[in-house]
Amino acid sequence: AKKAGRGEQRVFNDAMNAVAKDALVIDGALRDAIEANEFYLVYQAITNAHTGKLTKVEALLRWNSPLLGPMPPDRFIPVAEDSGMIIALGTWVLEQACRQVGLWKHSVLDDVTISINVSAWQLADPQFVTLVSQALIRNGLSPHQLELELTERVLIEDAANVQTVLAQLRALGVGISLDDFGTGYSSLSYLTQFHLNTLKIDRAFVMDIEHSERSNSLVHAIIAMGHSLGLQLVAEGVETAGQAAILEKMGCHYLQGYHISRPILPDELLHFADGRAAP
Ligand code: C2E
Ligand code: CA
Ligand code: CA
Ligand code: CA
Repeated sequence: AKKAGRGEQRVFNDAMNAVAKDALVIDGALRDAIEANEFYLVYQAITNAHTGKLTKVEALLRWNSPLLGPMPPDRFIPVAEDSGMIIALGTWVLEQACRQVGLWKHSVLDDVTISINVSAWQLADPQFVTLVSQALIRNGLSPHQLELELTERVLIEDAANVQTVLAQLRALGVGISLDDFGTGYSSLSYLTQFHLNTLKIDRAFVMDIEHSERSNSLVHAIIAMGHSLGLQLVAEGVETAGQAAILEKMGCHYLQGYHISRPILPDELLHFADGRAAP
């Protein structure tokens, strides 16, 4: 076949980019992506705000599609949710993340807790609790080493069922974390109605904490409320030393964000953790 000239190639790329915006194309490309090994996980450190010790890591999904190029999760997760493919994908994430923690045994990351993001569809799957306990057993993790991150949307989707499933997971010893806190429907009754143990304060509030009195008061109030409810607090999107200092002073337990580390590959995380071992 005749090789495309530079102009033609650009027209082709522009057209591809336009097409790629189409959820249908993403949906099609997602179909075989698990089997074709196109997914991988990166891990972002979550450190103790007081000691700086690395205590948890959040697993974040990455998709390198040969057809569409690197695709951010915010683009393809909603598509996978619409088609129900998120169940297979979420199961892959669960297994992969637990396997990685298993591989970290006897390293400096021996006792790390892994946080994974879970969609509403997964919680509605009658197999979910079984899948979780099997992943723990198969990979030799103790249940406290796994934490599931849910958004407020997940909680309201099917509240009665979710409440039951979360109670079962907590009974197993698995942690439940409320992600993006403050951005969603934010009914404070969720905090007592569900079996949560961690609140993740959304980046939107953390971002302005140094310069906006309003964000500062809001974060302060969330932390105070979390303390009185016996919840662990994680601040997301910590990008500066100033933010970290303010959050630590306010009594936030854990910090996550580019100031500490970007999401990185397992070997890089091991290296990072080496420098942050317990004193
Ligand atoms: P999230 O759970 O709120 O994850 C945090 C996002 O913020 C990540 O984006 C992370 O890379 C980014 N981030 C972390 N620190 C900073 C910071 O200091 N500054 C800024 N600007 N950003 C920061 P990412 O990896 O693109 O993921 C986006 C969203 O996709 C996640 O938001 C989560 O909702 C979803 N997601 C990712 N992996 C999975 C997964 O395995 N399953 C499901 N269901 N959703 C996932
Ligand atoms: Ca999350
Ligand atoms: Ca979040
Ligand atoms: Ca988010």
